[in-house]
Amino acid sequence: MKITDAKRDFRLMFDLIREMSPPHHFEFSEPFWVLVTTLLSHRTKDQVTDAAARALYNRYGSAENLSRASYDDVLNMISKVGFCKVKARRVIDLAGIIVNRYEGKVPENREELMTIPGVGRKTANVVLSDSMGIPAIAVDTHVQRISKRIGWSRSDEPEKTEEALMKIVPREEWVGFNPVMVEFGKTVCRPVGPRCQKCLINKYCDFYSKKSE
Ligand code: SF4
Repeated sequence: MKITDAKRDFRLMFDLIREMSPPHHFEFSEPFWVLVTTLLSHRTKDQVTDAAARALYNRYGSAENLSRASYDDVLNMISKVGFCKVKARRVIDLAGIIVNRYEGKVPENREELMTIPGVGRKTANVVLSDSMGIPAIAVDTHVQRISKRIGWSRSDEPEKTEEALMKIVPREEWVGFNPVMVEFGKTVCRPVGPRCQKCLINKYCDFYSKKSE
């Protein structure tokens, strides 16, 4: 699909994707807790991630308190999360950095966020868009897979996919783009067994047209 075609069709397709996708559940809206939740989420199911982050929030309630937490306590609370040992240390260190380097306030730009250990481009973009309303497109596994299937991106590299999407997705849709795509990816354009027959955008999708040849 050419960029011009993709741009022209994007609004129509995204409206249909939105129509097919259930509302996204946001466990937190405060930047610090969105950051903690996103750090915990790698290779972990949403319900497990949300429960672990909520347990930390209920116990500590602030970056300052979490920065003083004991490793064993935090580990115990997030033990069902993937890579919990690394992440327990990470969230305590993260809390310390936010308190000591940023006076308790999560920085509002990507470059600064990405200087924090464990915070990559995707996490930074999630925090910017979901908790601060700053336009950014977070490319997680759902966004990567779906973009490639539809033909919005030709690359397997999230950074290149983000660049491709920034040319196609109107800037006013960047905030909220990832959560819609995540729900679409969980319910319709699933990693295994995408529900292409009932998908309302199948006639625009490269994957589907190749499959139907
Ligand atoms: S047609 Fe299939 S592969 Fe294409 S977006 Fe829909 S569910 Fe995904």
